[in-house]
Amino acid sequence: MFHWDNGLVLTKARLAIDFRRRQPRAFVSHAHSDHIARHEYALCTPETAALYQHRLGPRPTLPMPYRRPIDWGGLRLTTYPAGHCLGSAMLLAEDGEQSLLYTGDFKLGESATAEPAELPHADVLVIESTYGQPEHRLPPRRQVIDQLLALVRGALADGAVPVVEAYALGKGQEVTKLLTDAGIPVLQHRTVFGVSRVYEACGVSLGRYEPFTGKAEPGWAVVVPPRAGTGEQLGRQVRIAVTGWAVDPRAKYRLRVDHALPLSDHADYDELFEAVARVSPRVTYCTHGPLSFVERLREAGHDARPLGNRL
Ligand SMILES: [Zn+2]
Repeated sequence: MFHWDNGLVLTKARLAIDFRRRQPRAFVSHAHSDHIARHEYALCTPETAALYQHRLGPRPTLPMPYRRPIDWGGLRLTTYPAGHCLGSAMLLAEDGEQSLLYTGDFKLGESATAEPAELPHADVLVIESTYGQPEHRLPPRRQVIDQLLALVRGALADGAVPVVEAYALGKGQEVTKLLTDAGIPVLQHRTVFGVSRVYEACGVSLGRYEPFTGKAEPGWAVVVPPRAGTGEQLGRQVRIAVTGWAVDPRAKYRLRVDHALPLSDHADYDELFEAVARVSPRVTYCTHGPLSFVERLREAGHDARPLGNRL
């Protein structure tokens, strides 16, 4: 049903999936920069189309709202929420004989700014397994959010500026929403702010936030992309990184921040197993993750294989 050409291709429809090099026809699962290119024609959800065009300018797209199948290139194609960021989608492809589910980047459980993931059954599962090591078990999300709020409130009470480092697309809006819901207004770096405007245009309200112009306001938190400078005028800062990699207690030294919190938009080790169980496929192909995850799946009785350039 598919082949590998330095990336996943649905053979019958000649549809390239999440290619980083320009294609005649591509499915874009979400608008993170490692999943997009200036394709001649891109199939994606309307929200991903808005974010994709925000990043790369006006481009031809075929909108695919969640759960509305289209017949395309000899296949029936349906998107399902992936829970990763606004518009992020899994793709179910059916050819009348068998079905394939491509997860793209995904997360189970709750998000403040993305629809929760849905996992339909498929015969073949292609799963993104970034956190496929047992060390990557995330603490309960509520606990991490409480830590974030305590650190931000502590910094403000102390007369310091809380600066949260978060990816411009997805995590930046998630953190903003979590803070503004807790009554803490947010100043956003311009790249985060630009993406937030697209979220708002798509109907995701992020609360009280303004563009960051280099000056702090008492009582406000600042959200910037990882390692972004904040200028000289800001004074004393408490830098907080939010990333799944923060399950490693040494992450804060590597990231050069005061605190690193494991708030992730990727499935952790246990969620990856849960996803495979829910899809209940005949065969599972693993991308992006460690080879050891393929072994763990096999030990658990699944027919699992690695997929990628190393084959
Ligand atoms: Zn992503």
